[in-house]
Amino acid sequence: MPTKSIQASTLRPDELDAVYAINKVVAETYEVDDALDQITKISRKVLIFDNAVIYLAQGENDLAPIFARAIGRGKESASELVWGDKAAEEVIKNGETFTHESNIAPDGDRLNQPYILGLPMQIGGQITGALIFIRFGGPEYTQEQINLAEFITLHISHLFQNKKLVERIANLEAERRLVELQDEFIAMVSHELNTPLGFIKGYTTTLLRTDTEWDHETQNEFLTIIDEEADRLSEMIENLLDSSRLQAGALPMDLRPVMVETIASDLQERYQSRYQNLTIEVKVPNTNAKIMTDPKRLIQVFDNLMNNINKYAPNSHDRIDFNINNNEVEITIRDDGPGIAPKHLPHLFDQFYRVPELSGGVRGSGLGLFIANMIVQAHNGSITVESKSNEGTCFCISLPLIEVNNG
Ligand code: ADP
Repeated sequence: MPTKSIQASTLRPDELDAVYAINKVVAETYEVDDALDQITKISRKVLIFDNAVIYLAQGENDLAPIFARAIGRGKESASELVWGDKAAEEVIKNGETFTHESNIAPDGDRLNQPYILGLPMQIGGQITGALIFIRFGGPEYTQEQINLAEFITLHISHLFQNKKLVERIANLEAERRLVELQDEFIAMVSHELNTPLGFIKGYTTTLLRTDTEWDHETQNEFLTIIDEEADRLSEMIENLLDSSRLQAGALPMDLRPVMVETIASDLQERYQSRYQNLTIEVKVPNTNAKIMTDPKRLIQVFDNLMNNINKYAPNSHDRIDFNINNNEVEITIRDDGPGIAPKHLPHLFDQFYRVPELSGGVRGSGLGLFIANMIVQAHNGSITVESKSNEGTCFCISLPLIEVNNG
């Protein structure tokens, strides 16, 4: 049931000013609580009330008080919404302005004599909530005051309508961005997977040609390319799967105690032979300290970092240092390669992030550091990066040591 039309001509000049001021707040303030605070203050200048409460209809029969201000009498009972609850139910049920004048309380306490004015809030003819004013101990609401309160309610309804619109636009924007990200992801993944696949297909077709004979050396060269590209393809698929499992928290970690010294000396052996163009120094610490780790996953972190050094800082001098500090081991992996400009550093561990200046001609998916970070976090550790253009890059991994009970 819609409320009767509101008559602006019945408003006094100071009331009209207040209504315009409220209208301005609604048009200019997107923060609803902030706007309601301002509207309460403006309304108080032209309408007497002790409490104001706004209820929003939620679902079929539910009402939620979303704003309450106690200004005059009964300030302490701001949280006591019992008067308002009943009035709001009544207003929403009938869709009409509602007044209730209390009988004189036998104890003479004004707080037990609420005079209630309940007004329906509407959007597009639909009742969306109720605004309740309370005066303790009167006076009664005059028709002019009820008329003014209906104006205020109309503006508050607009405020919520605006909020709904803003939320809807934000949701649409988020949905659009998600679709855009999915498109970018599919384009990137297809490109990355297609490149090695293209090589494999091209060289296989060439080898299968019946009109040409390939000497043994050429055949070997082609087969080596096919073999390498197949490895790259499977590494890429593995990375994609790992990264989605890590994000979903579904990559199991097989944590066990391992000596820090053992990890360090394994690294020395592993990388010295693998990367002969790099000069790698590993400082093996002399310590009994142990960490809880999934060795396979931790090696994956070092592999990703060293693989990057090989790609982006070829021929560099590199150091891996282990330092035991209090209750953690700090592992630094340092190269003296081209470095990374400061603006890229905050994004380096983001999924699919690649530094444009460095990625020309160097293949990668921007997943290596993302995966490294997730694995380190699954160890309750952290990984950070420091770098300067033309000076080199340093990654620092901190992992908690197992506490040794000496007692
Ligand atoms: P990618 O598959 O591109 O190598 P990563 O997540 O492993 O992805 O690395 C992200 C980006 O960080 C790389 O594309 C590269 O631009 C930069 N990067 C990583 N390590 C180094 C390094 N040691 N020196 C210079 N740039 C690096």
